[in-house]
Amino acid sequence: APQADDGHAHDYVGDAADAEDHARYQAGQQCQDCRFWEGEVEGGYGECSHPDFADVLVSADGWCDVFAPA
Ligand code: SF4
Repeated sequence: APQADDGHAHDYVGDAADAEDHARYQAGQQCQDCRFWEGEVEGGYGECSHPDFADVLVSADGWCDVFAPA
């Protein structure tokens, strides 16, 4: 699967640092600590089980506004 571009869905960014201005972002949140994270596939990217990310890989260090703690 291709790597998600920034803005793919839910204000996704590949680098959580770029979400610092987002109203829902809290320091330290990143995809690899999210309940939707399914583990790394390659090069720091992995699968996200949220349906809006079904056809892409997301960055372990990324973030989106449906982040939920694992
Ligand atoms: Fe990352 Fe979680 Fe959003 Fe998926 S739902 S893109 S793992 S923050």
